[in-house]
Amino acid sequence: MDHDFFPADPESMEVERRKAKVLKQSAWWKNRIGEGKCSYCQQRFAPKELTMDHKIPLIRGGRTSKSNCVPACKSCNRMKENMPPEQWRATLAAKYTPES
Ligand SMILES: [Zn+2]
Repeated sequence: MDHDFFPADPESMEVERRKAKVLKQSAWWKNRIGEGKCSYCQQRFAPKELTMDHKIPLIRGGRTSKSNCVPACKSCNRMKENMPPEQWRATLAAKYTPES
């Protein structure tokens, strides 16, 4: 996905954040978190423990789409936020079996 990296401008990030709010209300998302599984560590959580994570972060030009939004537990989410994407990918590959 690195080939389509481009820095997002603040307005389009705001648009994507708003879309995320709407997507979180959707039956699709409720179904995803209803499965109760973090898509990174594959562990089980209560739906309220799962957050919506953009696989490609908005700041890197990611979009709020069903293919880019996955349920993530708070600890994965926090870890991912604190790491550059390359390091996060390496961590995932070493520790977890990602869904896709
Ligand atoms: Zn997790």
